[in-house]
Amino acid sequence: MIGYYSTRDPQKTPVSFEEALLEGLAPDGGLYVPNRVPKIHPAHWMEAGTIAEVGCRVLPGWLGQEIPAETLESIIRDALNFPCPLVRLRDDLFVLELFHGPTLSFKDFGARTMARLMQHFLRQRGERRIILVATSGDTGSAVADGFAGQDNLEVVLLYPKGKVSAVQERQLIVRRKGVRALAVEGNFDDCQRIVKEAFLDPELAHLPLSSANSINIGRLLPQSLYYLWAAAQTGSPTPLNFCVPSGNLGNLTGGVLAALMGLPVGHFIAAHNDNHFFPDFLAGRAEAYQFLPTIATLSNAMDVGSPSNFERLYALLSPERMREWIWGTTVSNPATLERMAQVYQTHGYLADPHTAVGLEAVERYRARTGDPTPVVALASAHPAKFPEVVSKALGLPGPKEAALEALWGQETQVHTVAPTLEALKDLLL
Ligand SMILES: *Cc1c(COP(=O)(O)O)cnc(C)c1O
Repeated sequence: MIGYYSTRDPQKTPVSFEEALLEGLAPDGGLYVPNRVPKIHPAHWMEAGTIAEVGCRVLPGWLGQEIPAETLESIIRDALNFPCPLVRLRDDLFVLELFHGPTLSFKDFGARTMARLMQHFLRQRGERRIILVATSGDTGSAVADGFAGQDNLEVVLLYPKGKVSAVQERQLIVRRKGVRALAVEGNFDDCQRIVKEAFLDPELAHLPLSSANSINIGRLLPQSLYYLWAAAQTGSPTPLNFCVPSGNLGNLTGGVLAALMGLPVGHFIAAHNDNHFFPDFLAGRAEAYQFLPTIATLSNAMDVGSPSNFERLYALLSPERMREWIWGTTVSNPATLERMAQVYQTHGYLADPHTAVGLEAVERYRARTGDPTPVVALASAHPAKFPEVVSKALGLPGPKEAALEALWGQETQVHTVAPTLEALKDLLL
């Protein structure tokens, strides 16, 4: 059986997937890492017809001893029930669209799968959990949507009132079963602080509080599947390069797990915005953990100064291996807008700002290295989520998307609260 150990104490006896999933963070503050990665034969993904099928063939290698095969299969089919197409821009450049889930970002893969896995274990234990999430963007809506309606789970979302876009706010506050949205009269840091305080407060200690942030192993494993599914869609077993628009490095870590399972990957390209710790580290300009304050950019879901999954990558790969395998670059706001315009003019393809950071990184990588390996650029969000940036880059109105349009007709539910722990306690107790 695969066990999970904490990055801060590799010598300790590893815990089960169930425990790692329900705990999130290890008790010593470390992140859970698998003690081995199952090797998977390429036929398992190359012969799959959908991403759910990739999941059904690959995840039993990880979880087979902990969840009965049929249960796992129905969890995967229910979670990954949306398409994930590979779009060809050129013979050597593909875009893998990860934004066809209900909240239109790649976070739907992890959140939906994690919610169903948690629900399975909680029901078995006869337990429930209240998930607290502080959010400034895509995570909150993916978690709210992915966890809604799971009987043993409730979600309380905290977002900074007036500091998320109109589309993002709508996605957070539409009424969902088992989800409460709180508009906090403060900024994102206040939301995060309140959540942290709640976990430490003695009066709340009797509540089964939990989190669903990107360090949870339950969000990470499903993020390895679409790398395999991209290879299946090219129909060729030759190595690919993958370009990943990165912030907390959870998406990239999913790719590294896919490669460790046996997917042939030439190089990874880590595309960052102005938050450039990781490209600096890869180029030898920064030491490990020499994190930076967060800078706000147009690709706001990647605004992370201290990527939490770095600790996990560092446990999985030596610094030498990381630097040899992963190439990084940092893309400014103007370069992001220019790339959006350029890709639209050349290929008629409308990329959201996060994806555009990636597409700019691909061209730089090619120019710097001359590596002719075909690249799969991950498209992490739908451009309709960012109408303001689309119009700034292209002078066009933002694209329409049925799932977003439909939100405006739905009932909403939101409480405005002061930026204090007391306000959250009043609601929880
Ligand atoms: C969260 C997010 C990212 C960054 O992913 P990480 O796993 O944090 O590196 C990139 N693009 C979009 C649209 C996101 O929502």
